Amino acid sequence: MEKYDVVIGLEVHVKVRTESKMFCSCANLYGAEPNTLVCPVCMGYPGVLPVPNKEAIRKTVLAGLMTSCDISKFSKFDRKSYFSPDMPKNYQISQYDLPFCLAGNILISGKRFSDREPLPEKSIGITRIHLEEDVAKSTHFPKSSGIDFNRAGGPLMEIVSEPDMTSADEAYAYLTVLKRIMRYADISNCDMEKGELRCDVNISLKPAGRKEFGTKIELKNLNSFRSIHRAIDHEIARQAAELDAGAPLSQETRGWNDDKGSTYLMRVKETESDYRYFPEPDLTPITFSDEEIDAIRAEMPETPDAKKQRFIENFGLTPYDSEVLTNEKAVADYFEKAATKSSNPKQIANWIISELLRELANSANEISECPVPPANLAELAELINKGTISGKIAKQVFTEMFQNGGSPAAIIEAKGLLQVSDSSAIESLVDQAITENQAQVEQYRTGNQKVLQYFVGQVMKLSKGKANPQMVVAMLKEKL
Ligand SMILES: [Zn+2]
Repeated sequence: MEKYDVVIGLEVHVKVRTESKMFCSCANLYGAEPNTLVCPVCMGYPGVLPVPNKEAIRKTVLAGLMTSCDISKFSKFDRKSYFSPDMPKNYQISQYDLPFCLAGNILISGKRFSDREPLPEKSIGITRIHLEEDVAKSTHFPKSSGIDFNRAGGPLMEIVSEPDMTSADEAYAYLTVLKRIMRYADISNCDMEKGELRCDVNISLKPAGRKEFGTKIELKNLNSFRSIHRAIDHEIARQAAELDAGAPLSQETRGWNDDKGSTYLMRVKETESDYRYFPEPDLTPITFSDEEIDAIRAEMPETPDAKKQRFIENFGLTPYDSEVLTNEKAVADYFEKAATKSSNPKQIANWIISELLRELANSANEISECPVPPANLAELAELINKGTISGKIAKQVFTEMFQNGGSPAAIIEAKGLLQVSDSSAIESLVDQAITENQAQVEQYRTGNQKVLQYFVGQVMKLSKGKANPQMVVAMLKEKL
């Protein structure tokens, strides 16, 4: 149906998590008092020399390995010259033609936006990953502007994708997968609110089936994955309308206004030659041996996709449940610890997805701060399976464990929540329910079977939820 083919490529900047900045020993820290984490190197004073951060380079190579890139055995840093009030030196140390990582890819198969159908099998190419230094952060006040150089010189990876995406959904999926990989490997937290992940979108339209690309337009100032999704949808419609009207598009950079839900012209794009790249004279090239690359490869964690697949195979989870549980590595680790202690891993998955994640969201806690250790969740599930407590009581116990800690057995004991399976105790409750509800007894006896559920409810209420439901049903049937 479509009149135009949509071509989307993403440039994602990821702040690398390290102790110190890229070329000096200042702390690489978010949220400190402005301009307190600075030195002559990251302030761009003349005569100072940069010293590369080994950990930032290691994590960049790790990011490359996690995304199936080839690692360059010979890389170098280059100067990228441009003027920006955020940049103290008027050049940025970046990488031009010999980045650390080249030609990778990630799978977005099965990922979904919101409640839409999962995406079909698809791999998105990664052109390159290079390392550079971050710029300062400027803040604009009503009558003045401030610049915070704490961010200047921080290690920043740029991950450039191939123009392989064709929709907002695919771009959203790509970002979700990329973020997950970065977090799994502890390369970055990718918190967009802290500027740890920033994304520029390149988008163009061309008549369906034509080979040559259309005019590329870059979108900037995108503050969340959701606004990226909205901005792409908006821009596809805008460009299509322009092309329909016969208006030529020009290569430009556009910003996104989230409140208005529209893009606006920022500037006409610089071309590459404007940057006047040349090899950074203050830094020697970086070389890697096979052994050094293998050593980093050996530290690679299991990828999120591999973990998802393993959970499906080893624990019998559905693809959907496995996806939810492997979204965050810490949640996946929690599940795995509890599941290995349980006779029913699927039950553990249900408890985590429906109860634990909800409680965590309500309390705004991370799973690392979860007051219920995995072993206690497994124990609670076993108590349901053994008939010691009902599923309903288990939820009560779980809430108590979450709020005040403690083992399930101790809570059941302290609160007297043991399931009542003593037939004489249940009998007296059944008798009481029958005596108190004569009208319903009449209904049941004249053929209304549904009233049985009403009596079950009454007995459960009288027992405060502790009566064994199977025994209650059997006894009611007998007595009514
Ligand atoms: Zn510094």
